[in-house]
Amino acid sequence: MSEATGDQPCVFCRIVDGEIPADVVHSDDDVVAFRDSSPKAEVHVLVVPRAHVTDVTDLVDDPALLAALVRTAGEVAEDFADGDFRLVFNTGAGAGQTVFHAHAHVLAGRGAAAVGL
Ligand code: 5GP
Ligand code: ZN
Repeated sequence: MSEATGDQPCVFCRIVDGEIPADVVHSDDDVVAFRDSSPKAEVHVLVVPRAHVTDVTDLVDDPALLAALVRTAGEVAEDFADGDFRLVFNTGAGAGQTVFHAHAHVLAGRGAAAVGL
């Protein structure tokens, strides 16, 4: 499902729909995970719900979907690093959110502990 953000189509909806390319590392009925185009750590993957919601606070109404995001983050860290990871949800422009489709940054491997987002 694509959803417009003002006049701009949502970039993560377009990735979910396969309309623009991304390095997808996981995809299922609920979530899609793909590498960040500007990685800040050895492993920097974004996990997004297929359904468009603005930020992580919208997921409190769907705890199963929030759990799917966290489960996928752990699997990504196991698959591409040693299993340890940071999970960052920038929420609101004042906190650095630039894409208003909920997403978890999974940071793992070299550089993950030091990165600021
Ligand atoms: P935010 O600042 O909203 O928490 O994070 C948005 C992230 O999305 C940024 O780290 C940025 O590099 C990434 N990003 C923005 N546009 C694209 C894109 O078209 N493809 C991919 N793979 N990542 C993107
Ligand atoms: Zn979207």
